[in-house]
Amino acid sequence: MDSLLVHASTPYSILIDFDLLSQSGPLILSHLDKKPERAVIVTDSNVAPLYLHTVQRSLEAEGIAVTPMIFGAGESSKRLKTVAQMYSVFSQAGLTRTDIAVALGGGVTGDMCGFAAASYMRGIRYIQIPTTLLSQIDSSVGGKTAIDIDEGKNLVGAFWNPALVLCDIGTLSTLTPHFFADGMAEAIKYGCIKSLSLFEQLEKQNASDFLPDMISQCIRIKCGVVERDERESGERMLLNFGHTLGHALEKYYHYEGLSHGEAVGIGMVLASRAGETLGITPAGTADRIAALLQKYHLPTSDPAPLGTLAKFALSDKKRLGSTVNFVALKTIGDAFVHPVPQSQWEAFVLGGASR
Ligand code: NAD
Ligand code: ZN
Repeated sequence: MDSLLVHASTPYSILIDFDLLSQSGPLILSHLDKKPERAVIVTDSNVAPLYLHTVQRSLEAEGIAVTPMIFGAGESSKRLKTVAQMYSVFSQAGLTRTDIAVALGGGVTGDMCGFAAASYMRGIRYIQIPTTLLSQIDSSVGGKTAIDIDEGKNLVGAFWNPALVLCDIGTLSTLTPHFFADGMAEAIKYGCIKSLSLFEQLEKQNASDFLPDMISQCIRIKCGVVERDERESGERMLLNFGHTLGHALEKYYHYEGLSHGEAVGIGMVLASRAGETLGITPAGTADRIAALLQKYHLPTSDPAPLGTLAKFALSDKKRLGSTVNFVALKTIGDAFVHPVPQSQWEAFVLGGASR
């Protein structure tokens, strides 16, 4: 079993292996300093029939009283309304601050259960059991929890670290190719910003042939960044590579038709092209990234007008003051923040990213 300790303000372990769900009870107990008496397992309507029973049985075998809470799968559930239902289930199950919430599912489940755990009784412990590639290599690590409001995605949330993360790689076998590809965009992003060797491995081999190693490398990269910048004041911004224009694309299509990973992939190509035009990214980088995205069945371009995307990007919450912190590549494996004054932003995107 691969295991790493995240040195966050409240340290926690991440365990990576096959078949962790069936051992979740003993693993949770051995990683908590105080034994919980009760647990609410939060999961969605797709994941519940696949994996709830295994986790529930393992926790109950350790003498933990389990109450499941199942919500309708999909981003549209990531709302205060569902969190409010969670509070009621937590309360009716008799959860106290010594008990636990368990997020069993993808990023929607983790973000929402994490937020409920951060706020219920001013904060209870929660366990992440991520079951999508994206949630294993991205959303379950780093302590960001959130919900969506009408005005924007992830606009309400909290920093709240899990007590433990269990990455059961076996759960990915039931993931649809579409959601697998979505996670691959983030894996490619990690290669772009921090690891040429990961990028090259993804070029030479097939991700499915070295999945545990790939997941472990991605988690280690995210952990390193998050450990050095838990509250997103500096290095963590690098994780937004491809996301400034990617988020704009998602918004342009009203979060329908183009998934997050697809949008981020296109965003990475546009960002690299802009870097090439500016002379800060070596020529050929955008094409190389595009070729890798294609290999993993991700799109590399989109007809949406760049001017409109530039405007949408300005309304993104990650813009700080009067500058856009644009993440560019010095080379593959080495990213940096290139601040663009708001007044020059549109010209920067139009002039740089178009070809
Ligand atoms: P998701 O949770 O909706 O899961 C995607 C789909 O896969 C769902 O339909 C789900 O039911 C299904 N599913 C999950 N596990 C499965 C399995 N093992 N087998 C079969 N089907 C399975 O979404 P996601 O793509 O995992 O995550 C996206 C969310 O993560 C977004 O809301 C995004 O904002 C958030 N996010 C958060 C962070 C963070 O730092 N907190 C980072 C990135 C993304
Ligand atoms: Zn992302």
